[in-house]
Amino acid sequence: MSKSSSEIDRFFRTLHERDNPHEAEWMAVILFVRNLLPRLTIYSDEKKSEIQFEICEQLMENDFSENRLDTVIALLDGYLLQTIGALELEEALTQEKRTAGLLINEMDEMISTMHGANERQDNRLNTFREETVGVIREGTQKSHILSTVRGMFQELIEEFREEARLLNAKAEHFRMTADFDPLLTELHNRRSLEAHLKSVAQEFARTGAPLCLMMIDVDHFKQVNDTYGHQAGDDVLRALARIVNTHAIQYDGFAARYGGEELVVVVQGMDLNRAAVKAEALRADVERYDFRVRTDGKLGDTPVNFTVSMGVARMKVGWTASDLVGAADAALYQAKDTGRNRVCIAPK
Ligand code: GH3
Ligand code: MG
Ligand code: MG
Repeated sequence: MSKSSSEIDRFFRTLHERDNPHEAEWMAVILFVRNLLPRLTIYSDEKKSEIQFEICEQLMENDFSENRLDTVIALLDGYLLQTIGALELEEALTQEKRTAGLLINEMDEMISTMHGANERQDNRLNTFREETVGVIREGTQKSHILSTVRGMFQELIEEFREEARLLNAKAEHFRMTADFDPLLTELHNRRSLEAHLKSVAQEFARTGAPLCLMMIDVDHFKQVNDTYGHQAGDDVLRALARIVNTHAIQYDGFAARYGGEELVVVVQGMDLNRAAVKAEALRADVERYDFRVRTDGKLGDTPVNFTVSMGVARMKVGWTASDLVGAADAALYQAKDTGRNRVCIAPK
């Protein structure tokens, strides 16, 4: 640099000696290269020497023409442009680092909100975090980091969505095939009843052990709905379901909702007469039950009584399960026909 400096000084002196129309411009160039350049922090020392060396070469030509001046200015321009490029690059790198930091923060925030769904997903999230932080830290190009992380994130979300779809499908399946009635939760549903009937009918065919079925129907239930509303009607059904279930449990009966307000109890190991006695006890309990209509969570003062009619039948050799149901149903209709609130037995 000292050689360049002395060249510059020599040129500086010559500049004064000559009559030079561009003296001011050359002076500016010299002042820049000799005084300003060494103070600039944007250039490394090597870069400063390189610039000074280049300019000195031009000055050594001892040419004060406008052309030479243009060449020198173009040279300085070039360096300046390079500097701007370097600054932009540095800025971009700083930005990149900042974005990477932000990205990691955002990832952390997002991951913490997603945590807790289940253990498998938590593990997957932790792995995802490690992988993305790796990409962010090691990556050098902002666009590459972003596109990689975005891709990984989309993959993760798709994975989670797929899992949610499967879980929903499973939940729906369980809901559809659950064994219990959604309204009368103590009671098995129709699907479950069919399966049970099939199984006990097979057992009957094999062992011949007594198998009875009670069919229960609320008397004048339409009137309950019409008088107190459908909600009260549902509450009556819930009360009935509890009574039926309490009885059925005592003799290992299988209590189910056959249809709307028709319930069924399947009893094994009990002959028809005993089953009829149990049915009668159940009917009497329903009759005694003081049902209260609930309005806005409060129970009404006066009881609303309701009754049921019942048909009881015993499985016969050669019958199918639906023959048994049909026989109990026929007995039930007989109970309805003969005044309701009673138990009728199917012909032996
Ligand atoms: P019957 O003594 O001849 O049995 O008279 P009923 O009024 O009970 O007549 P039926 O058994 O034919 O009618 C049943 C009524 O029960 C019709 C229907 O609106 C009502 N119902 C069926 N399922 C439900 C239910 O889940 N909730 C309510 N609130 N009502 C129901
Ligand atoms: Mg009915
Ligand atoms: Mg009815």
